[in-house]
Amino acid sequence: MTHDTCDFLIVGAGFAGAVLAERLAVDGGYRVLVVDRRPHIAGNAYDVPDAAGILIHQYGPHIFHTNSDQVLAYLSRFTTWRPYEHRVLAHWNGQLLPVPINRTTINRFFGLDLATSAAAEAFLNQQAESVAQIRTAEDVVVSRVGRPLYEAFFRGYTRKQWGVDPSALDKSVTARVPVRTDTDDRYFNDRYQIMPKHGYTAMFGRLLDHPDITVRIGTEYRDVVARVRARHVIFTGPIDEFFDYRFGRLPYRSLRFDHRHVATAKFQPVAVVNYPGEDVPYTRVTEYKHLTGQEHPATSISYEYPSAEGDPYYPIPNPANAALYARYEALADATPGVTFAGRLGTYRYFNMDQVVAQALTIYERLAGRRRGHASVLAHACELAELKT
Ligand code: FAD
Ligand code: UDP
Repeated sequence: MTHDTCDFLIVGAGFAGAVLAERLAVDGGYRVLVVDRRPHIAGNAYDVPDAAGILIHQYGPHIFHTNSDQVLAYLSRFTTWRPYEHRVLAHWNGQLLPVPINRTTINRFFGLDLATSAAAEAFLNQQAESVAQIRTAEDVVVSRVGRPLYEAFFRGYTRKQWGVDPSALDKSVTARVPVRTDTDDRYFNDRYQIMPKHGYTAMFGRLLDHPDITVRIGTEYRDVVARVRARHVIFTGPIDEFFDYRFGRLPYRSLRFDHRHVATAKFQPVAVVNYPGEDVPYTRVTEYKHLTGQEHPATSISYEYPSAEGDPYYPIPNPANAALYARYEALADATPGVTFAGRLGTYRYFNMDQVVAQALTIYERLAGRRRGHASVLAHACELAELKT
């Protein structure tokens, strides 16, 4: 069997893997091999033209938003941007109401005409339930907006999305969604709300375009580990899988995406419409042209069906899972030669910008430890065919 030598073997060509590969090659001077089991780069942010030529996000809507100047400056080396402010409407009682809950939502839901933020704040204060200690995803919402709005917009959606009641999920899950008393109907609060002008996959193509980065898609870590002599491994897949589920499986939530092409120019008024009711099995419908700004006489949409089976998309935040992850994290710390990164590697419900920030921090740590020990290899990493 031949062994190829490499400075770093990176498992996963998503944000975590691609950013680390770029930094290690360009700044660190290392030879890097990136493998991904999927037939493409960009991980869950992968976008691709569908059969009709409409750019879709294969793994559901990905909207870039951040408050970090550092993350924005870094990614701006690999893409230009188009301004895009995300807006979401939710189906309720035959109407489409803004989500996050804002004054418009409150007025239309309760048939009121509250004219100021102060009036809406006072109204929500009457609605709010007092919760001694805010621990769960239910507590966060009922303590802020009360039960009727919680039941209309959060309970059903969350039960579908996570397969458990909000009372069994960490508060951080629903705390992601703000509550407003003004009429701002943007989904995110972040300073920067933009989309890569030519899409995510194009941006990843530029991130990974370097003579010292070798990318092998459709390639499973287990199948190459015996063939590559890497000085260090960076693993961005599920951490429990890496350790052969030694302490049991970390729970992840999955989704099934039903992509459809529709022969109409516009399907819905905004990019995402949420369906919080438990009478429909899907959680949200995305129309991609709103996100990308693409002009096309027809349109493409996707329905999201939450599922326990399938690719791991969401770590499930609750105390039991955090305790199980802590055991894997301790094992990782005690295992030399491997570093874990990303949403699955560190079991954190991270947005894209948080994964980029984490990868940049990990790079600084790795580079600091090895400063002055740049690659001694004469060639870029290769992956020879398995010879026995
Ligand atoms: P991933 O993108 O999952 O990449 C990991 C890669 O590792 C995968 O491609 C996988 O194939 C590969 N891999 C795993 N194990 C192995 C193995 N053993 N061998 C080879 N390859 C392996 N974030 C936002 O900021 N805004 C959004 O609007 C947004 N929307 C989202 C919508 C959905 C439906 C989902 C699921 C996520 C969304 N996110 C969003 C989060 C975003 O997708 C993640 O933060 C980001 O993509 C995580 O990057 P990563 O590199 O950690 O993981
Ligand atoms: N959520 C909800 N109703 C909504 C929107 C969100 O109940 O209309 C809850 C749900 O539990 C969801 C969580 O808030 O999983 C976080 O929402 P976000 O839009 O951030 O989810 P993501 O885009 O990560 O799937």
